[in-house]
Amino acid sequence: MHEVKRKKAQSIASKKDSVKPIVSKYDERERNRSNDFLHKLTTELAKAFPSAMHGFEDLNKAGMYSKSKRYNRNISKQNWKGIIWLMRYKANVRLVDPRYTSSTCPMCGGKLIKLRKGRVLKCKKCGLELNRQLYGAINVYLKMCGFPPSPSTFY
Ligand SMILES: [Zn+2]
Repeated sequence: MHEVKRKKAQSIASKKDSVKPIVSKYDERERNRSNDFLHKLTTELAKAFPSAMHGFEDLNKAGMYSKSKRYNRNISKQNWKGIIWLMRYKANVRLVDPRYTSSTCPMCGGKLIKLRKGRVLKCKKCGLELNRQLYGAINVYLKMCGFPPSPSTFY
């Protein structure tokens, strides 16, 4: 709804200079709403897991590798940076190298291949099938702990 309004204002603004202040007003409101959400999210995460170490992919390193399609349009890289920045004030954070977190099997270290279903990946070596987000989360966790891929650490 809000998004639609902004788009409309933008398309009008491109034709007419006098409407431009409306666009920035909507952008600002959207930014504030997003910041509010990030504050609440990180506070709740820190509260729910008070003594945990929170692992995040190091986005500065992620930028160096071209396969950055993992960030969808709704959750921008900027939002992730905001989450990490806020979490560092509220909890223990460790950044991990993002390389291979979405292409390595956490159980055997084999290479993951995409299945037709898209969201599910399969290990070429041991046949493990998981959601790609779950693979990513497990691999980030293993890296955070300094554990190599193996059946025992996986389980
Ligand atoms: Zn495997």
